[in-house]
Amino acid sequence: MPHEPDPPPAKRFKPGSPFFRLDKRPGGMLLPRASHAPTSLDVQRKQLPIYQARTQLINQLRQLHNAVLIGETGSGKTTQIPQYLYEAGIGRQGVIAVTQPRRVAALSLAGRVAEEKRVQLGKLVGYTVRFEDVTSSETKLKFMTDGMLLREAIGDPLLLRYTVVILDEAHERTVHTDVLFGVVKTAQRKRTEQNKVPLKVLVMSATMDVDLFSQYFNKSPVLYLEGRQHPIQIYYTKRPQSDYLQAALVSIFQIHQEAPPSHDILVFMTGQEEIEALARTCRDIAKHLPDTCVPMTVIPLYASLPPTQQLRVFQPTPKGSRKVVLSTNIAETSITISGIKYVIDTGMVKAKRYNPDSGLEVLAVQRVSKAQAWQRAGRAGREDAGFCYRLYTEEEFDNLANMTVPEIQRCNLASVVLQLLALGVPDVLNFDFMSKPSPESLRMAVEQLYILGAVEKKDEQVLLTPLGKNMACLPLEPRFSKTVLMSPDFSCTEEVLTIISLLSVDSVLYNPPARRDDVLAVRKKFISSEGDHMTLLNIYRAFRKVSGNKDWCRENFVNSRNMGLVSEVRAQLKDICIKMNMKMESSQSDLANVRRCLAHGLFMNAAELQLDGSYVALDTHQTVAIHPSSVLFQAKPAYVVFNELLHTTRCYMRDLCLVDSDWLHEAAPEYFRRKLRASRS
Ligand code: ADP
Ligand code: MG
Repeated sequence: MPHEPDPPPAKRFKPGSPFFRLDKRPGGMLLPRASHAPTSLDVQRKQLPIYQARTQLINQLRQLHNAVLIGETGSGKTTQIPQYLYEAGIGRQGVIAVTQPRRVAALSLAGRVAEEKRVQLGKLVGYTVRFEDVTSSETKLKFMTDGMLLREAIGDPLLLRYTVVILDEAHERTVHTDVLFGVVKTAQRKRTEQNKVPLKVLVMSATMDVDLFSQYFNKSPVLYLEGRQHPIQIYYTKRPQSDYLQAALVSIFQIHQEAPPSHDILVFMTGQEEIEALARTCRDIAKHLPDTCVPMTVIPLYASLPPTQQLRVFQPTPKGSRKVVLSTNIAETSITISGIKYVIDTGMVKAKRYNPDSGLEVLAVQRVSKAQAWQRAGRAGREDAGFCYRLYTEEEFDNLANMTVPEIQRCNLASVVLQLLALGVPDVLNFDFMSKPSPESLRMAVEQLYILGAVEKKDEQVLLTPLGKNMACLPLEPRFSKTVLMSPDFSCTEEVLTIISLLSVDSVLYNPPARRDDVLAVRKKFISSEGDHMTLLNIYRAFRKVSGNKDWCRENFVNSRNMGLVSEVRAQLKDICIKMNMKMESSQSDLANVRRCLAHGLFMNAAELQLDGSYVALDTHQTVAIHPSSVLFQAKPAYVVFNELLHTTRCYMRDLCLVDSDWLHEAAPEYFRRKLRASRS
């Protein structure tokens, strides 16, 4: 076993300032909590800190059009407020919407509230997330992702179906949340102006910049909720860690060997690949531990896991064993995973970073903000006192940024602008954003949409073209929407839908490092010298041929869960295409047409081989390299289009497709005349 006996955690870590000590909040409600005997849901509801404030809250919310509600996590905001409003008859004429930045949160919260109200999910209480709508005409309390409410707003800009919109976890500031803020605010104003049923807007969070939110939402009053958070002891490492994965592994097993059973562990990591790899290592090591150790159940959690798999984290662990949840920042807010007593925070997150000067959007592993670190720590104190091990020093913590920069200020805005135009926002560049993106990045987004043919400019105005209108109907990034919409011209819609769906989920390939040679051997038969997209297409076709046979998947190192998800995404996209009257044709074995179609959608992500063997991205003239995971890694094609850039030690192109330079010119003649001249000069 590669694992030496470890010193106890306290020796590796030094204690930091305790988090949310109860004695710091003299007014805090300290209700006795029956921690052993199971309590009925009604009793549990009444024991939540928010219950004390129920009457007062209802009275205030009845009066107010806008309110900002702050209360510590676990105080009962998300599960109780919608029920209080409904029980008090507030907003009963319509639906009360509760938005969540994450799909898994919407699902699990709706489940919990339905249980508390003793109703079947989908009746009074329901949820809507991408690919799933569990609501009915009876639904009055509707949990949904903010992206879904935004989509609904395209058909119904005044959101007339809703009487209350609760913007929950507002501090997360995803692009969707930020755009939704503006859309909801406009809907509220217009409804008042037009004498329609008023819209109540409630913003909730545990940690946020209260003044900013209150100011933005018409100087709305801020309601502070007395909360209760169990004390959490924070530990820092004594020295900076060069390998956070190794540090996480060591910490997990230190805790595992010492903590009593049923004290579960939640580890925050950055993405699917490292989570799956660590999960396997943990399972392997756990198998070889002496019998005196309790059994370990390792559960991965990340956004691209199919929903049923995500819900596994909520199932109780068998008595006498320990649950170890390895999660991305998906578990950072909103959800309650029962049993978690220990949090291990690697301090890292994978997030988008955008440089409007270079026009480059990259996914990069980077440090979390202080606000995120506190949220993560807070997950240990949902049910009882807990511990948080930070895999970084206290000094490193002090140097973290206070708040995460809102995503809207660090991503490519082409999707946002397209969506705003589809929503009928007249002057996109002056949209009422809570935090304005730079004018430069907005202009750049308009420019990209222009090059893609989605917008035209008329007397200073930016208007959607018919193509742009159709692009906005697809829940995809503009360049992918365009690829799909171009596909009938090349008679390859079936293939393009498959490829785009494959790119919309995390990897469908499973690459256990220990079996590298086996993987290479079986994958050979699928590899296409035309690139990763075609290779993926071959794998999908083979998968369909055996009807998704599980043994086939195992033998071929294909992740059958993710493949299942690909089929779901594909069906959804195909539905939309059929509604748009698109011709469904297959190019069969003629894959050149498929590549040509990809060139027509992804031409802004093209790279050219240079004389010295390096590559230059034609749009930005930045030097880029082929990612080692690409099937083209050893090849040197003259022109490629790629899916995304990943910044690690260098800037890598991921998911590449070989293209002809002619196709690029044919896709956007004027653009390439400019770009190629510039790159040669
Ligand atoms: P807040 O939104 O203020 O963070 P919630 O309303 O989400 O709080 O949750 C309040 C409490 O309800 C949690 O601390 C937990 O005890 C309980 N709870 C919420 N969701 C679940 C769930 N899915 N399973 C079990 N308990 C839950
Ligand atoms: Mg909540």
